[in-house]
Amino acid sequence: MEVKIAPRMSQIKPSPTLAITAKAKALKAQGVDVVGFGAGEPDFDTPEHIKEAAVKALKEGFTKYTPVPGTDELRQAVADQLARDYGLEYAKEEIIISCGAKHSLYNIAMVLFKPGDEVIIPAPYWVTYPAQIYIAEATPVIVETLEENQFKLTPEQLKEAITPQTQAILLNYPNNPTGTSYTKEELEQLAQVALKHDVWIISDEIYDKIIYDGFTHVPLATLSTQLKEKTLLVNGVSKTYSMTGWRIGWVAGNKDVVAAMNKLQSQSTSNPTSIAQSAALAALQGPQKCTQEMVAAFKERRDYIVKRLSNMEGVKCFNPMGAFYVFPSFAGLYGKRHGDRLINNSLDLADYLLNEYNVAIVPGVAFGEDKGARLSYATSMENIKKGLDRIEEAISQLR
Ligand SMILES: *Cc1c(COP(=O)(O)O)cnc(C)c1O
Repeated sequence: MEVKIAPRMSQIKPSPTLAITAKAKALKAQGVDVVGFGAGEPDFDTPEHIKEAAVKALKEGFTKYTPVPGTDELRQAVADQLARDYGLEYAKEEIIISCGAKHSLYNIAMVLFKPGDEVIIPAPYWVTYPAQIYIAEATPVIVETLEENQFKLTPEQLKEAITPQTQAILLNYPNNPTGTSYTKEELEQLAQVALKHDVWIISDEIYDKIIYDGFTHVPLATLSTQLKEKTLLVNGVSKTYSMTGWRIGWVAGNKDVVAAMNKLQSQSTSNPTSIAQSAALAALQGPQKCTQEMVAAFKERRDYIVKRLSNMEGVKCFNPMGAFYVFPSFAGLYGKRHGDRLINNSLDLADYLLNEYNVAIVPGVAFGEDKGARLSYATSMENIKKGLDRIEEAISQLR
């Protein structure tokens, strides 16, 4: 029987990284000592006080439907955190809790975009963005950022990419996969262009607390009241509190957009898991030391990995301001060979490293930038050292 799947699904291409990830998994299962740089989540356990809050909620029978947009307490806690950390004022009606920030972004795409709409995405980008825009039957417009611009979108690039069809721009800072972020001045310049053309700004700030060297994270919404009305601020507990499996994210922004998302959510997922909401509440209201300790460990690893990669021949490594990834350029190696194996792009390189040296990295082509590859340092220092030794050896064998 031929199964007819809806046409919207045909635009969602299987990730080119899937083959690499699957192969790495298979090798590991065979007992091969694979060093993985693929992790998209912190390697730390969820802090104990957060887990205890979920256990307590469970034991107290907090196991029924909650309000669709999340409990009043959790929405208020998100508002309180935004006020405390950034001086941003949101009413509860301007906040909706969803099943992870990915779900928040999905809801935004479904309530804002229609066929023909264009959404600007700077590359390298998180793979989910274009996929969700395709599901909404709108058109992603990819704008390539340059390493010499620290992988930042420039106001000129934004101006050039905007058309009458532009409905939104998607900004993610600190960025996955490059770790870059924007200063207040840079954001102000981008914001001016966006406001002039009256486009929405979807601001994915999921890594706002994972920043280094005293870098200041500035939410776009803080820049002006006018901008706050056009910005949909997306965040969640996944990265900040090492809670990826709990699935709690949120949007703060215009109340009409939030109301539309509430309507959509009421007919799709309903509320996010009740006890996960209790855990998220404890995360937001409890001590923030756990995040600081995690960031300190990440910083040590980042310093090490950037230094090692920068010293490798043919490799350039941008020093990121945040998140837990590096996105070095390996383009200096393209055209080289190892025996019969020609390395011409990021997929060739990832394949070579995995097959010959048992190191898994994510090829940059998956993020729309073939010169680089993503290495996550959400893994132990011991693994990082071992993996970098292998990469160094692999590179030295290229002719
Ligand atoms: C991890 C991540 C998210 C969302 O994660 P959730 O677990 O769905 O909250 C969103 N954006 C980026 C760029 C991410 O890396």
